[in-house]
Amino acid sequence: MFVYADNAATTSVSKTALDAMMPYLTTLYGNPSSLYSFAQKAKEALEEARQTVADIIGAQPKEIYFTSGGSEADNQAIVSMAKFGALKGKKHLISTKFEHHAVLHTLKQLEKQGFEVTLLDVHEDGVVRLEDVEAAIREDTALVTVMFANNEIGTVQPIKEIGALCRSKGIPFHTDAVQAAGHMPINVQEMNIDLLSMSGHKFHAPKGVGVLYAKKGMPLFNIIEGGAQERGKRAGTENIPGIVALAAALKESVDNMEANTAKIIPMRDKLFAELSKIPHSKINGSLEHHVPGTVNMCFEGIEGESLLLLLDSKGVCASSGSACTSGSLDPSHVLLAIGLPHEVAHGSLRLSIGEYNTMEEIDHIIEVVPGVVEYLRSISPVWEELENGKRKHLI
Ligand SMILES: *Cc1c(COP(=O)(O)O)cnc(C)c1O
Repeated sequence: MFVYADNAATTSVSKTALDAMMPYLTTLYGNPSSLYSFAQKAKEALEEARQTVADIIGAQPKEIYFTSGGSEADNQAIVSMAKFGALKGKKHLISTKFEHHAVLHTLKQLEKQGFEVTLLDVHEDGVVRLEDVEAAIREDTALVTVMFANNEIGTVQPIKEIGALCRSKGIPFHTDAVQAAGHMPINVQEMNIDLLSMSGHKFHAPKGVGVLYAKKGMPLFNIIEGGAQERGKRAGTENIPGIVALAAALKESVDNMEANTAKIIPMRDKLFAELSKIPHSKINGSLEHHVPGTVNMCFEGIEGESLLLLLDSKGVCASSGSACTSGSLDPSHVLLAIGLPHEVAHGSLRLSIGEYNTMEEIDHIIEVVPGVVEYLRSISPVWEELENGKRKHLI
């Protein structure tokens, strides 16, 4: 059996998205900047997609900028607010310890350029506290950026409340909503969001296309210079097929959100319930504030990487954290941020379930994980020390 349980890393392209984009890959290939009517079909599709995305998140079409993905949208939002803040003498940026690297590394870069960055604690439950945000705000704060839902542990942040706080202080508020878009309701007006990032490939559109929402009046700094596409804020011939697919996939996800959630939650809950029976295991992150599909657990005495390789040999695609940290031996910064000791964080497993998964697939995962964990423990020197009392169990 083959089970794809890594939907937080990427998703398959839906039939709806593929059908929507196909004409723009084949017959309607014009450049939307060209003046002849043939190319205007591409231009119309672009503006229709912009309208669709805007309507879904409660924005104006003029506030939607298409990018190459979530990373670019994060970069542009943060760099813009930093640079324009600096013009007014504001060089302080607030974020959290468990953001995606597209946010954290951008902030690191800005730090080198003289900005001061405060990274907020996310506590054991993986949820930022409003009072911590409030306490960190200064006269010279140029931006608060807090992710909507975490990509590794799935916890959802009090975005509306943080947005209201920022608005009351006149500070721009950005959220990386890449894990939330298409999976949870988002309304930028109701939630007091000034800037927001999305990525198509996390909700069944192709890779390489994303959205930056920037509220009217938010000054954007260009990351990519060139032509006057995207109201002069993002140069480069528009990725029309990708953009059309993104809008179609987002609409499909949002139209089916209730049904998808109702399908995913029982699968996720079964995974939590059954895998928790493994001794010395732990669920990571609060289940109270959670995206539907993400399951993150730690198993003491084993290495997440070995677990993934053995699961792969049994047909299960999973992750030990984000796809970006795979390949490095450091434990996940997200798991360290919620206070897990290094040795526990090493034994992590993320399963991310989508609406295309089935209960049979979940049963397959439940069948194979305990055996694999048991096997890895049987050959683990750390587990031996835990068992004979030379080491103390941490979970
Ligand atoms: C996947 C992801 C990104 C990066 O998006 P890309 O489109 O792959 O650049 C950013 N933030 C979060 C939370 C993500 O999950």
